Amino acid sequence: MIPFYDLKEVNKKHREEMIEAVTRVIDSGWFVRGAEVDNFEQEFADFCGTKYCVGVGNGLDALSLVLRAWKEMGLIQEGDEVIVPANTYIATVLAVTGNNLKPILVDPDMSSYNICKNNILDKLTTKTRVIIPVHLYGRMAEMEEILEIAKDNDLLVLEDAAQAHGASREGIVAGSYGDAAGFSFYPTKNLGAIGDAGAVTTNDFELADTVRALANYGSKIKYENQYKGINSRLDEIQAAILRVKLKYYKNEINERVNIADFYLENIRNNSIIMPVNTGLDNVWHLFVVRHKERNRLLNLFEINDIGINVHYPIPVYKQAAYHNCFAGDFPITEKLSKQIISLPLYPGLSQSDISHVCDMLNSL
Ligand SMILES: *Cc1c(COP(=O)(O)O)cnc(C)c1O
Repeated sequence: MIPFYDLKEVNKKHREEMIEAVTRVIDSGWFVRGAEVDNFEQEFADFCGTKYCVGVGNGLDALSLVLRAWKEMGLIQEGDEVIVPANTYIATVLAVTGNNLKPILVDPDMSSYNICKNNILDKLTTKTRVIIPVHLYGRMAEMEEILEIAKDNDLLVLEDAAQAHGASREGIVAGSYGDAAGFSFYPTKNLGAIGDAGAVTTNDFELADTVRALANYGSKIKYENQYKGINSRLDEIQAAILRVKLKYYKNEINERVNIADFYLENIRNNSIIMPVNTGLDNVWHLFVVRHKERNRLLNLFEINDIGINVHYPIPVYKQAAYHNCFAGDFPITEKLSKQIISLPLYPGLSQSDISHVCDMLNSL
């Protein structure tokens, strides 16, 4: 059996250090908003190349809190339109609707699976205020083009970097391109905690300060509440674990790149459409291939007891939660949702397993 993802394997090599980190927190007697969070925030901001990082409860809150903070800062208001990819995880869209903003779905580019210039330009209106590019599957969206559109139209850019810790373009790292970014450290993300965790990165002091307050009951000074905030704080144990894993994260990116390179070189089957290789800027959160008759692939994996996944089988506009909310057609998202399949990929996946996946696909 080959698992799609094996968290025990991923965390095994850090086990001793993780136990040490958790023990340090227990012995400190300080569990929320302490030294571990402060240090992690500094270390993750340095990693991304931003001035500020604010640890929060999860990735959805990271995105939601940035939009909420921009409302409090008077930069956007309820009813404003926000451009989001149609083929994203539902969290991106929930952050928008949760703030009473209007998500405008945009079909992606057929080769990169990320949103692109022309499809965005088609959807701009006088009410557009924000673009949320998602660095889907670990590949950076076309940020230069997106920033140009934002500049020309006076829009804010919020990167959804939940799948792309450390991805870069021309040396600029995910999380430092836009006005702000939201990260998730959900256990199966590239940089994963041992529970829920997330962060906001930005170079804007006022935004960081507002997000920090909103995530802590709307309070900057103890028992003084400036906003009707929420409770979404990163806790000391998760921060301590993330500090251990961040130390080794560059190696893990390399491992992911090596696995992806092997797949790219060794899967030789014309019926399988491979992801476009963009070199080192991709941190390969997922390795997604396509097949016109996906069921044949799904059966093959099942017979061979190999784990796969589909990211995502039901587009957000077809979810019951958003019934009748989105007008228009999204033919590329539609096609992708029927053809895509994500192959096993995680640090620690053995060479023999990787070869086995290739052989099996080549025999189809
Ligand atoms: C995982 C994910 C999120 C949400 O992160 P959580 O920590 O699960 O809340 C948001 N956007 C994308 C693209 C994701 O993959």
